[in-house]
Amino acid sequence: AAERSQRWVRFTPELDAASNQDTLELLAELKTALGSNQLTLHYQPKICLLSDAVLGVEALMRWQHPERGSIPPGRFIPRAEHSTLIDQLTAWAIDTALAQLVTWQAQGLTLSVAVNVSTRNLLDPNFVDSVLSLLDKHQVDGALLELEITEGAFMLDFERTTAELTRLANANITLSIDDFGTGYSSLQYLDALPVSMLKIDQSFIKSLARNSSSAPIVRAAINMAHDLGIQVVAEGVETRTAFELLRELGCDVAQGYFMARPMPAAQFNDWHTDTQG
Ligand code: C2E
Ligand code: CA
Ligand code: CA
Ligand code: CA
Repeated sequence: AAERSQRWVRFTPELDAASNQDTLELLAELKTALGSNQLTLHYQPKICLLSDAVLGVEALMRWQHPERGSIPPGRFIPRAEHSTLIDQLTAWAIDTALAQLVTWQAQGLTLSVAVNVSTRNLLDPNFVDSVLSLLDKHQVDGALLELEITEGAFMLDFERTTAELTRLANANITLSIDDFGTGYSSLQYLDALPVSMLKIDQSFIKSLARNSSSAPIVRAAINMAHDLGIQVVAEGVETRTAFELLRELGCDVAQGYFMARPMPAAQFNDWHTDTQG
Protein backbone atom coordinates (compact mmCIF):
# COMPACT_ATOMS: atom_id res chain seq x y z
CA ALA A 1 0.00 0.00 0.00
CA ALA A 2 2.89 2.35 0.82
CA GLU A 3 4.33 1.65 -2.60
CA ARG A 4 1.07 2.55 -4.32
CA SER A 5 0.83 5.96 -2.72
CA GLN A 6 4.34 7.05 -3.72
CA ARG A 7 3.90 7.48 -7.44
CA TRP A 8 1.31 6.72 -10.01
CA VAL A 9 3.70 5.08 -12.44
CA ARG A 10 5.91 2.11 -11.78
CA PHE A 11 7.92 0.89 -14.73
CA THR A 12 8.85 -2.60 -15.62
CA PRO A 13 12.60 -2.89 -16.23
CA GLU A 14 12.41 -4.50 -19.67
CA LEU A 15 11.50 -1.20 -21.36
CA ASP A 16 14.51 0.26 -23.17
CA ALA A 17 15.53 3.89 -22.73
CA ALA A 18 14.00 5.26 -25.95
CA SER A 19 10.64 3.61 -25.67
CA ASN A 20 10.77 4.43 -21.98
CA GLN A 21 10.98 8.14 -22.82
CA ASP A 22 8.11 7.89 -25.32
CA THR A 23 6.07 5.91 -22.89
CA LEU A 24 6.79 8.35 -20.07
CA GLU A 25 5.45 11.24 -22.16
CA LEU A 26 2.43 9.35 -23.32
CA LEU A 27 1.59 8.16 -19.84
CA ALA A 28 1.97 11.65 -18.38
CA GLU A 29 -0.46 12.92 -21.03
CA LEU A 30 -2.78 10.02 -20.41
CA LYS A 31 -2.79 10.81 -16.72
CA THR A 32 -3.84 14.37 -17.62
CA ALA A 33 -6.43 13.03 -20.06
CA LEU A 34 -8.01 10.96 -17.30
CA GLY A 35 -8.57 14.08 -15.23
CA SER A 36 -9.76 16.36 -18.03
CA ASN A 37 -12.55 14.66 -19.99
CA GLN A 38 -10.36 13.66 -22.95
CA LEU A 39 -11.33 10.04 -22.48
CA THR A 40 -14.72 8.71 -23.46
CA LEU A 41 -16.33 5.35 -23.99
CA HIS A 42 -17.91 4.23 -27.21
CA TYR A 43 -20.45 1.43 -27.14
CA GLN A 44 -20.85 -1.41 -29.62
CA PRO A 45 -23.99 -3.57 -29.49
CA LYS A 46 -24.00 -7.33 -28.97
CA ILE A 47 -26.87 -9.01 -30.78
CA CYS A 48 -28.61 -12.26 -29.82
CA LEU A 49 -28.49 -14.53 -32.87
CA LEU A 50 -31.66 -16.32 -31.80
CA SER A 51 -33.90 -13.31 -31.27
CA ASP A 52 -32.08 -10.37 -32.93
CA ALA A 53 -32.43 -8.52 -29.61
CA VAL A 54 -29.69 -6.21 -28.36
CA LEU A 55 -28.36 -7.96 -25.26
CA GLY A 56 -25.81 -5.39 -24.26
CA VAL A 57 -22.83 -3.36 -25.35
CA GLU A 58 -19.06 -3.52 -25.17
CA ALA A 59 -17.49 -0.30 -23.88
CA LEU A 60 -14.39 0.72 -25.85
CA MET A 61 -12.12 3.52 -24.75
CA ARG A 62 -11.45 6.58 -26.91
CA TRP A 63 -8.86 9.30 -26.33
CA GLN A 64 -9.36 12.70 -27.95
CA HIS A 65 -6.02 14.46 -27.48
CA PRO A 66 -6.26 18.30 -27.67
CA GLU A 67 -3.36 18.57 -30.16
CA ARG A 68 -2.80 15.09 -31.54
CA GLY A 69 -6.42 14.28 -32.21
CA SER A 70 -7.85 10.87 -31.64
CA ILE A 71 -5.42 8.24 -30.35
CA PRO A 72 -6.60 4.64 -30.78
CA PRO A 73 -6.65 2.36 -27.72
CA GLY A 74 -4.22 0.01 -29.44
CA ARG A 75 -1.61 2.77 -29.04
CA PHE A 76 -2.11 3.77 -25.44
CA ILE A 77 -3.61 0.77 -23.61
CA PRO A 78 -0.60 -1.55 -24.08
CA ARG A 79 1.69 1.18 -22.74
CA ALA A 80 -0.58 1.94 -19.81
CA GLU A 81 -0.37 -1.78 -19.06
CA HIS A 82 3.32 -1.30 -18.26
CA SER A 83 2.38 0.94 -15.36
CA THR A 84 -0.14 1.13 -12.55
CA LEU A 85 -2.03 3.72 -14.60
CA ILE A 86 -3.96 0.82 -16.13
CA ASP A 87 -5.61 0.29 -12.74
CA GLN A 88 -6.99 3.84 -12.82
CA LEU A 89 -8.04 3.54 -16.48
CA THR A 90 -9.98 0.35 -15.85
CA ALA A 91 -11.63 1.77 -12.74
CA TRP A 92 -12.60 4.86 -14.75
CA ALA A 93 -14.04 2.68 -17.55
CA ILE A 94 -16.13 0.58 -15.16
CA ASP A 95 -17.33 3.68 -13.29
CA THR A 96 -18.28 5.46 -16.53
CA ALA A 97 -19.91 2.40 -18.10
CA LEU A 98 -22.02 1.74 -14.99
CA ALA A 99 -23.14 5.39 -14.88
CA GLN A 100 -24.23 5.03 -18.53
CA LEU A 101 -26.03 1.79 -17.74
CA VAL A 102 -28.01 3.56 -14.99
CA THR A 103 -28.95 6.29 -17.50
CA TRP A 104 -30.15 3.65 -19.96
CA GLN A 105 -32.13 1.92 -17.21
CA ALA A 106 -33.89 5.23 -16.47
CA GLN A 107 -34.79 5.43 -20.18
CA GLY A 108 -36.27 1.94 -20.01
CA LEU A 109 -33.38 0.22 -21.76
CA THR A 110 -32.18 -2.97 -20.12
CA LEU A 111 -28.67 -3.68 -21.31
CA SER A 112 -25.60 -5.34 -19.93
CA VAL A 113 -22.31 -3.58 -20.33
CA ALA A 114 -18.96 -5.23 -20.97
CA VAL A 115 -15.67 -3.62 -19.96
CA ASN A 116 -12.22 -4.80 -21.03
CA VAL A 117 -9.94 -5.82 -18.20
CA SER A 118 -6.18 -6.03 -18.59
CA THR A 119 -4.13 -8.93 -17.36
CA ARG A 120 -2.36 -6.58 -15.02
CA ASN A 121 -5.61 -5.53 -13.34
CA LEU A 122 -6.02 -9.05 -12.03
CA LEU A 123 -2.66 -8.81 -10.30
CA ASP A 124 -3.80 -5.72 -8.40
CA PRO A 125 -4.88 -6.99 -4.96
CA ASN A 126 -7.50 -4.21 -4.76
CA PHE A 127 -9.08 -4.92 -8.14
CA VAL A 128 -11.98 -7.14 -7.08
CA ASP A 129 -12.93 -4.90 -4.17
CA SER A 130 -12.85 -1.85 -6.43
CA VAL A 131 -15.22 -3.52 -8.92
CA LEU A 132 -17.61 -4.56 -6.16
CA SER A 133 -17.60 -1.07 -4.64
CA LEU A 134 -18.37 0.48 -8.05
CA LEU A 135 -21.40 -1.83 -8.39
CA ASP A 136 -22.45 -0.68 -4.94
CA LYS A 137 -21.86 2.99 -5.76
CA HIS A 138 -24.15 2.80 -8.80
CA GLN A 139 -26.54 0.26 -7.25
CA VAL A 140 -26.19 -1.98 -10.28
CA ASP A 141 -26.80 -5.73 -10.18
CA GLY A 142 -23.58 -7.63 -10.89
CA ALA A 143 -25.47 -9.65 -13.52
CA LEU A 144 -25.51 -6.56 -15.76
CA LEU A 145 -21.73 -6.20 -15.74
CA GLU A 146 -19.48 -8.28 -17.95
CA LEU A 147 -15.70 -8.27 -17.78
CA GLU A 148 -13.70 -9.29 -20.86
CA ILE A 149 -10.39 -10.92 -20.02
CA THR A 150 -7.75 -12.31 -22.36
CA GLU A 151 -6.31 -15.76 -21.97
CA GLY A 152 -2.91 -14.37 -21.03
CA ALA A 153 -4.32 -13.45 -17.64
CA PHE A 154 -4.47 -17.05 -16.53
CA MET A 155 -0.95 -17.88 -17.53
CA LEU A 156 0.67 -15.40 -15.15
CA ASP A 157 -0.66 -16.84 -11.95
CA PHE A 158 -3.38 -19.36 -12.60
CA GLU A 159 -4.35 -20.07 -9.00
CA ARG A 160 -4.52 -16.51 -7.87
CA THR A 161 -6.33 -15.31 -10.99
CA THR A 162 -8.86 -18.11 -10.65
CA ALA A 163 -9.49 -17.13 -7.03
CA GLU A 164 -10.04 -13.47 -7.98
CA LEU A 165 -12.32 -14.40 -10.86
CA THR A 166 -14.33 -16.68 -8.61
CA ARG A 167 -15.04 -13.73 -6.30
CA LEU A 168 -16.30 -11.74 -9.30
CA ALA A 169 -18.39 -14.66 -10.57
CA ASN A 170 -19.90 -15.05 -7.09
CA ALA A 171 -21.16 -11.47 -7.45
CA ASN A 172 -22.97 -12.66 -10.63
CA ILE A 173 -20.59 -10.74 -12.88
CA THR A 174 -20.26 -12.38 -16.29
CA LEU A 175 -16.69 -13.27 -17.20
CA SER A 176 -15.74 -13.59 -20.87
CA ILE A 177 -12.59 -14.87 -22.50
CA ASP A 178 -11.68 -12.24 -25.12
CA ASP A 179 -9.76 -12.90 -28.36
CA PHE A 180 -10.28 -16.64 -28.02
CA GLY A 181 -8.10 -18.60 -30.41
CA THR A 182 -5.18 -16.16 -30.53
CA GLY A 183 -3.45 -17.08 -27.29
CA TYR A 184 -2.82 -20.28 -25.45
CA SER A 185 -6.36 -21.54 -25.95
CA SER A 186 -5.85 -24.51 -23.72
CA LEU A 187 -9.20 -26.22 -23.63
CA GLN A 188 -8.34 -27.87 -20.33
CA TYR A 189 -8.21 -24.71 -18.26
CA LEU A 190 -11.37 -23.32 -19.80
CA ASP A 191 -13.34 -25.93 -17.87
CA ALA A 192 -11.60 -25.02 -14.62
CA LEU A 193 -12.39 -21.31 -14.83
CA PRO A 194 -15.58 -19.53 -13.71
CA VAL A 195 -16.16 -18.08 -17.19
CA SER A 196 -19.55 -18.15 -18.88
CA MET A 197 -18.72 -16.54 -22.24
CA LEU A 198 -16.12 -16.97 -24.89
CA LYS A 199 -15.48 -14.41 -27.63
CA ILE A 200 -14.05 -15.94 -30.77
CA ASP A 201 -11.37 -13.60 -32.10
CA GLN A 202 -12.27 -11.48 -35.10
CA SER A 203 -9.44 -12.97 -37.18
CA PHE A 204 -11.58 -16.14 -37.49
CA ILE A 205 -14.80 -14.24 -38.15
CA LYS A 206 -14.05 -11.35 -40.55
CA SER A 207 -13.87 -13.49 -43.68
CA LEU A 208 -15.99 -16.36 -42.40
CA ALA A 209 -17.88 -18.21 -45.11
CA ARG A 210 -19.03 -21.79 -45.57
CA ASN A 211 -15.89 -22.81 -47.48
CA SER A 212 -13.35 -20.65 -45.62
CA SER A 213 -10.54 -22.31 -43.69
CA SER A 214 -11.72 -20.84 -40.38
CA ALA A 215 -15.21 -22.37 -40.66
CA PRO A 216 -14.27 -25.73 -39.06
CA ILE A 217 -12.38 -23.93 -36.29
CA VAL A 218 -15.35 -21.69 -35.50
CA ARG A 219 -17.70 -24.68 -35.58
CA ALA A 220 -15.45 -26.65 -33.21
CA ALA A 221 -15.05 -23.71 -30.81
CA ILE A 222 -18.84 -23.23 -30.63
CA ASN A 223 -19.50 -26.91 -30.00
CA MET A 224 -16.73 -27.24 -27.45
CA ALA A 225 -17.91 -24.16 -25.55
CA HIS A 226 -21.49 -25.36 -25.52
CA ASP A 227 -20.39 -28.76 -24.21
CA LEU A 228 -18.77 -26.90 -21.32
CA GLY A 229 -21.89 -24.80 -20.72
CA ILE A 230 -20.23 -21.66 -22.08
CA GLN A 231 -21.95 -19.20 -24.43
CA VAL A 232 -20.23 -17.95 -27.56
CA VAL A 233 -19.86 -14.44 -28.96
CA ALA A 234 -18.45 -13.89 -32.44
CA GLU A 235 -16.68 -10.55 -32.79
CA GLY A 236 -15.70 -8.79 -36.00
CA VAL A 237 -18.86 -9.82 -37.85
CA GLU A 238 -18.54 -7.69 -40.97
CA THR A 239 -20.70 -9.46 -43.53
CA ARG A 240 -24.17 -10.90 -43.89
CA THR A 241 -22.55 -14.18 -44.96
CA ALA A 242 -20.68 -14.45 -41.66
CA PHE A 243 -23.74 -13.37 -39.67
CA GLU A 244 -25.98 -16.01 -41.23
CA LEU A 245 -23.43 -18.80 -41.03
CA LEU A 246 -22.81 -18.05 -37.35
CA ARG A 247 -26.53 -18.33 -36.67
CA GLU A 248 -26.56 -21.65 -38.52
CA LEU A 249 -23.58 -22.90 -36.48
CA GLY A 250 -25.46 -22.16 -33.27
CA CYS A 251 -23.35 -19.21 -32.16
CA ASP A 252 -25.19 -17.26 -29.45
CA VAL A 253 -24.17 -13.63 -29.89
CA ALA A 254 -22.74 -11.49 -32.71
CA GLN A 255 -20.85 -8.21 -32.59
CA GLY A 256 -19.34 -6.30 -35.49
CA TYR A 257 -19.50 -3.62 -38.14
CA PHE A 258 -22.23 -5.55 -40.02
CA MET A 259 -24.63 -4.55 -37.22
CA ALA A 260 -22.96 -1.44 -35.83
CA ARG A 261 -19.64 0.21 -35.10
CA PRO A 262 -18.75 1.37 -31.61
CA MET A 263 -20.44 4.77 -31.06
CA PRO A 264 -20.99 7.45 -28.43
CA ALA A 265 -23.94 6.84 -26.10
CA ALA A 266 -26.20 9.43 -27.78
CA GLN A 267 -25.64 7.83 -31.18
CA PHE A 268 -26.23 4.39 -29.71
CA ASN A 269 -29.64 5.58 -28.47
CA ASP A 270 -30.58 6.69 -32.02
CA TRP A 271 -29.31 3.44 -33.50
CA HIS A 272 -31.29 1.44 -30.92
CA THR A 273 -34.49 3.36 -31.66
CA ASP A 274 -34.00 2.91 -35.42
CA THR A 275 -33.26 -0.82 -35.33
CA GLN A 276 -35.29 -2.09 -32.39
CA GLY A 277 -38.34 0.09 -32.98
P1 C2E B 1 -10.99 -5.84 -28.32
O1 C2E B 1 -11.37 -5.90 -26.89
O2 C2E B 1 -10.74 -7.13 -29.02
O3 C2E B 1 -12.12 -4.97 -29.03
C1 C2E B 1 -12.60 -5.21 -30.33
C2 C2E B 1 -11.98 -4.25 -31.33
O4 C2E B 1 -12.45 -4.55 -32.64
C3 C2E B 1 -12.36 -2.79 -31.08
O5 C2E B 1 -11.27 -2.00 -31.53
C4 C2E B 1 -13.56 -2.63 -32.02
O6 C2E B 1 -13.78 -1.27 -32.37
C5 C2E B 1 -13.12 -3.44 -33.20
N1 C2E B 1 -14.23 -3.98 -33.98
C6 C2E B 1 -15.49 -4.27 -33.59
N2 C2E B 1 -16.20 -4.81 -34.61
C7 C2E B 1 -15.37 -4.87 -35.67
C8 C2E B 1 -15.53 -5.33 -37.04
O7 C2E B 1 -16.58 -5.80 -37.46
N3 C2E B 1 -14.43 -5.24 -37.83
C9 C2E B 1 -13.24 -4.74 -37.39
N4 C2E B 1 -12.25 -4.66 -38.27
N5 C2E B 1 -13.07 -4.30 -36.13
C10 C2E B 1 -14.12 -4.36 -35.28
P2 C2E B 1 -10.78 -0.75 -30.68
O8 C2E B 1 -11.97 -0.02 -30.14
O9 C2E B 1 -9.79 0.00 -31.50
O10 C2E B 1 -10.02 -1.41 -29.45
C11 C2E B 1 -8.85 -2.16 -29.67
C12 C2E B 1 -8.44 -2.89 -28.42
O11 C2E B 1 -8.04 -1.97 -27.40
C13 C2E B 1 -9.54 -3.74 -27.82
O12 C2E B 1 -9.65 -4.96 -28.50
C14 C2E B 1 -9.03 -3.89 -26.39
O13 C2E B 1 -8.04 -4.90 -26.34
C15 C2E B 1 -8.37 -2.55 -26.16
N6 C2E B 1 -9.31 -1.68 -25.42
C16 C2E B 1 -10.25 -0.83 -25.88
N7 C2E B 1 -10.88 -0.20 -24.87
C17 C2E B 1 -10.34 -0.69 -23.73
C18 C2E B 1 -10.54 -0.44 -22.33
O14 C2E B 1 -11.42 0.33 -21.91
N8 C2E B 1 -9.74 -1.13 -21.46
C19 C2E B 1 -8.79 -2.02 -21.88
N9 C2E B 1 -8.06 -2.67 -20.95
N10 C2E B 1 -8.58 -2.29 -23.17
C20 C2E B 1 -9.34 -1.63 -24.08
CA1 CA C 1 -13.00 -6.93 -25.80
CA1 CA D 1 -11.55 -9.12 -28.79
CA1 CA E 1 -7.84 -7.56 -27.99
